[in-house]
Amino acid sequence: MSLKRILTAALILALAACSGKSASQSATAAGGKVAVVTTISTLNSFVQGVGGDLVTVDSIVPIGASPETYQPTPQDIAKLSGAQLLVENGAGLETWLQKMLTNVTDSNLKTVVCADGLPVKGLNPHLWMDPVLAQQYVLKIRDGLIAIDPGHTPQYTKNAADYNVRLALLQKKIQFQIDTIPPAHRYMIVFHNAWQYYNDRFGIKTLGIVEMNPGQEPNPQQIAAIIDLARQHGVHAVFSEPEYSPKILQSIAQGAGVKIVEDLYDDSIGTDPRVANYTSMLQYDTDVIVSALK
Ligand SMILES: [Zn+2]
Repeated sequence: MSLKRILTAALILALAACSGKSASQSATAAGGKVAVVTTISTLNSFVQGVGGDLVTVDSIVPIGASPETYQPTPQDIAKLSGAQLLVENGAGLETWLQKMLTNVTDSNLKTVVCADGLPVKGLNPHLWMDPVLAQQYVLKIRDGLIAIDPGHTPQYTKNAADYNVRLALLQKKIQFQIDTIPPAHRYMIVFHNAWQYYNDRFGIKTLGIVEMNPGQEPNPQQIAAIIDLARQHGVHAVFSEPEYSPKILQSIAQGAGVKIVEDLYDDSIGTDPRVANYTSMLQYDTDVIVSALK
């Protein structure tokens, strides 16, 4: 065991030892608000939408980082130890979470697993990218907050209903925009498969996925196969997120003679106000996709 590992383990134990405070102490620490921690920043909007001024929310995976390859830090354990509600996606996204939770000794921590009971496709955890499924996330977060803070049931109920009206309007607007893309152009090659639920909802075909397994780069044969598919279908663009290296995408784009779009947001919101919450992020992504595929 390296010195760094030993120090990290010691810090984890120290943090775990001082995390046994009660829910009421946590609430006081957060200024009387329910302290919520999400795993990924994209889920924060749902918590803020339902909780409003009654909650504080922070995420574990930093903005701009990939949840599939994330390594939690001792600070993350401290964050969870002070929280009353953990909102995780589930469906296999946060592979690092269970181990991390064993270091959190606060038995008052309640958990909402957003994807539980929803129609998960294969091993793909990105259900929130479909605003219709996102409405189910909102309802689960509402129920989680009511269980912790039943005194504010009317507010949580109203906020969740209002937020879901916004999601329904967003869904209609996105569909309207996607429908302006000629059907023969409705193909995407994506870096990682965050787009399956969005694409299935709105009628885009995910033609190729560059990185099938998180953190595992494709081999030359796989890259060649994607280039072939792109040529066959006259694909207009390959899409990625800012957190991934553009190197492989550049070779695919050059080989297939298509452009690269590397500013889609899905696992993480961004710091730019245009992508700083879920609804603006999905709107921004849609604008980017439509202009690239038209
Ligand atoms: Zn992802």
